[in-house]
Amino acid sequence: MKINFLSGIALFLLSASFGWYVCHASKEIRVQAPYSIKIDKLETVTDIVPILIIGSGPAGLMAAVYAARAHIPTVVLEGDKPGGALTQTSYIENWPGYERILGSEVIDLTRKQAQRFGALFVNDSVAKIDTSVWPFKVTMESGTILYALSIIITTGSSPHILQIPGEQEYWGKGVTTCAICDAPFHKDKDVVVIGGGDSAVEEALQLAPYAKTVTILVRKDAMRAAAAMQEHLKPLSNVAIMYNTEVREVRGDGNEVTEVLLENTNTKETFTKMVSGVFLAIGHKPNTSFLHGNIALDNEGYIKLHSRSQETSLRGIFAAGDVADKQYKQASTAIGDGVKAALETVSFLQEHGINGPILTSLQKRLYVPRKRAKFDVEKITSLERLESIIKAATNPVFVDFYAPYCPSCMMMLPAVSAVAYDMQDKATIVKVDVSESPDIGQKYHIGSLPTFLVFKPGSLQEIARYNDAMTQKELHAYIEQFTQNV
Ligand code: NDP
Repeated sequence: MKINFLSGIALFLLSASFGWYVCHASKEIRVQAPYSIKIDKLETVTDIVPILIIGSGPAGLMAAVYAARAHIPTVVLEGDKPGGALTQTSYIENWPGYERILGSEVIDLTRKQAQRFGALFVNDSVAKIDTSVWPFKVTMESGTILYALSIIITTGSSPHILQIPGEQEYWGKGVTTCAICDAPFHKDKDVVVIGGGDSAVEEALQLAPYAKTVTILVRKDAMRAAAAMQEHLKPLSNVAIMYNTEVREVRGDGNEVTEVLLENTNTKETFTKMVSGVFLAIGHKPNTSFLHGNIALDNEGYIKLHSRSQETSLRGIFAAGDVADKQYKQASTAIGDGVKAALETVSFLQEHGINGPILTSLQKRLYVPRKRAKFDVEKITSLERLESIIKAATNPVFVDFYAPYCPSCMMMLPAVSAVAYDMQDKATIVKVDVSESPDIGQKYHIGSLPTFLVFKPGSLQEIARYNDAMTQKELHAYIEQFTQNV
């Protein structure tokens, strides 16, 4: 191949810009792995985080315990669902040392343990990571930018959906992935759970005390759930399993689910079943879209790791838990991954000269999470109070329906309070605990949690509803659209 003189110079300049180049003006150090970290150059950088953990499920929390215990300043970005999927399970009976323990309790205890060692928690998510500079430039959903010397990705996975007719139309009106949140709305009713794994069994166990009947629809002739999990179903007289059955359509009356169209996968015969709820438990996909191709993923989107380590394709960036594990996906394997990731991260930093004295010298350049003003969103306990607020309002009124037993509702409360504070001049935001005030929930036909209702100022007429959890940024955008039209 012939390269002329000018293109040769261009090629040289291009490779230099991706090489050991220090960009003082932007206070970002451009590097190419393996990094030759010039510690003295860190003096030009602010908002440094020595170990940034993205995600706060079991992998992230355990990584935080080990990282902070090594006396390395550690920040945990809690993400859209603080605590992760474990907060939606009820009892775990294969957790070391416990006969049984609530998933949410495991999260709570481990979070406190990490905080005791000094890990800082920030209620925000990552929008993007620039890996062409070191420290890695991390832009958060809130717009805050910080510079991470190392990163541990523990963003877990999100439930799959079926993508069949009616699923979206009736989302939050009977179709859901959270049995623990919505089981009480199906008291004495017939429901189906779709899937044959541990999550399907878990959902059936959560629904059985409320529903009249729970039918688990399994597409093959056997469940893949652990034998011990399946054993728990046997004593439950209102739980049945229908094998070789798939859902083709969810149907309803416009307001809520009334039936599902099913197909026998052997005979191809179709038939309908009257139900009020459709609970999806058909597996999960890894949460890696925010990486925008910066890190090598496999063809299903899981982060690729080097051999038995937690190293990703980029030096200084590690991963742990479900985001990089399509085989085991257990909370107990996730914490092991988290431990390994933290130990490898500490070694990475040490190998690159980040030691106690350096960290002390960087003290003033470390990122310090901004403390939010405490803002109490009014909790409404009577219909009269709610209606008087709506009638007197001069801005749109947003009502957050939640319950303490709904993990995603509880995780969202800080975001609701932050947005209520930020938008107090444009919107009135209140909350209703439906477990304390079921009459308000019934009046507004709340059948899924969390649900947001929107009212025009001065009018008791509902103008919109949203049946799902939202991040702080999504909630802000959702509310903004109504405040502009008033
Ligand atoms: P799994 O991937 O284990 O199971 C998914 C299930 O959904 C499978 O039975 C699969 O069927 C079925 N499925 C997938 N797509 C469809 C579809 N389009 N229509 C109908 N059925 C479908 O996911 P889980 O969420 O159950 O579990 C994930 C991991 O989390 C597992 O490792 C599990 O052990 C763990 N877990 C542990 C729990 C506990 O110990 N308490 C609780 C919950 C989860 P098929 O089998 O035919 O592929």
